Amino acid sequence: MKIIKELLDERGQRPIHSVGPDDTVFTAVTLMVDKNIGAVLVAEGENIKGIMTERDYLRFITTQGRTARDTPVRELMTKKVIYVTPDTELNEVMNIMTAERIRHVPVLHDGGLLGIVSIGDVVKQIGQDQEVHIRTLEEYINDPYPGPVANGAAG
Ligand code: AMP
Repeated sequence: MKIIKELLDERGQRPIHSVGPDDTVFTAVTLMVDKNIGAVLVAEGENIKGIMTERDYLRFITTQGRTARDTPVRELMTKKVIYVTPDTELNEVMNIMTAERIRHVPVLHDGGLLGIVSIGDVVKQIGQDQEVHIRTLEEYINDPYPGPVANGAAG
């Protein structure tokens, strides 16, 4: 089973989009729409303060009397961020996402952030790996060599 580092290498480096805790919800959602992403990291300089996703915004719009332009991200974000590391196996990442009901995980290495991985990235990578695995098995099954030995020569 592949590890997160291999997924990041194959997917390619992508910018990590973040907002500050005092930025407005409107700013965060605009960034998500512009970049076509489902989550933004909330950071103050190098310090990660939380994560905000589409789900948080959906919850927010059902609250009364607040607008996205006058509410800071810190009021919506999840403060306790769940991370993975580059050596985490993909099935472990799936287990974490399923158990925690989250679809985004930052990848942390030596205190630095390598990227954010979404459930879509993980499912895509696992699917591709399974396809390769199936093709290899099919080739193995269909390969006639060494094949049955003629005239009972063996044994
Ligand atoms: P998601 O399914 O990723 O849209 O997120 C569902 C909920 O989990 C939202 O409240 C997010 O703020 C929160 N969440 C998403 N990713 C993480 C994460 N890596 N660590 C902690 N909370 C998260």
